[in-house]
Amino acid sequence: MIFFKEVFDFILPRFCATCKKKLKTNEEVVCYDCLREIKTVSDEKIAFAFGNKFKESSIITEFSSLYLFEKDKPVQELIHQLKYRQKFLIGKFIGSNLGRSLKRKSADWQLDLIVPVPLHHLKLAERGFNQSFYIAKGLESVLKIKVENNSIKRKRYTQSQTTMGIEEREQNIKDAFSIKKVEKIKNKNILLIDDVITTGATIRECGKLLLDNGANKVYAASGALAY
Ligand SMILES: [Zn+2]
Repeated sequence: MIFFKEVFDFILPRFCATCKKKLKTNEEVVCYDCLREIKTVSDEKIAFAFGNKFKESSIITEFSSLYLFEKDKPVQELIHQLKYRQKFLIGKFIGSNLGRSLKRKSADWQLDLIVPVPLHHLKLAERGFNQSFYIAKGLESVLKIKVENNSIKRKRYTQSQTTMGIEEREQNIKDAFSIKKVEKIKNKNILLIDDVITTGATIRECGKLLLDNGANKVYAASGALAY
């Protein structure tokens, strides 16, 4: 196998998603040098984030995340490449690593379905794909839990939230989603997936909608966590 991989890498070299150096045969998507610079989120940070983003509203049962989002670091480039350069393999890479982390840390979560946070159809057309969907597919391959991509719809084209404060984000996202297929989510324990969680407003809004429409429990996880 290694031999064939080496041959393929020789004919069709693969490059690191963040530093663009040629990948070695045993490296996947991100080279080891960059990977060392990408920090995973500690359990303390996850507990702290759950406390200030989700606990009060009682919508999200439990929450986890994989990488610590840092500006001007490889993790930012990784998310950027996934979102705007249509590198779906990055999504699957993040998703399967997140899946392995959840298997270790969150084995007691009882999950029936994985639901990625949807994009508005115009944004989907403009961007080419929904990055959260590919993270969800990576999770599916590790957790063996089905991705349900068509249960929630984003009905409003929302502004990019990157420069907004907490309250602006809350207003921007309010009533932005609707349920498409109630029968798919009824009485189900759902894992909501987003690429990056910042204030948590998007996750709370989707989670509330799922619970209001008969979902049993909503858990949340993201590829990266921003502070
Ligand atoms: Zn690299």
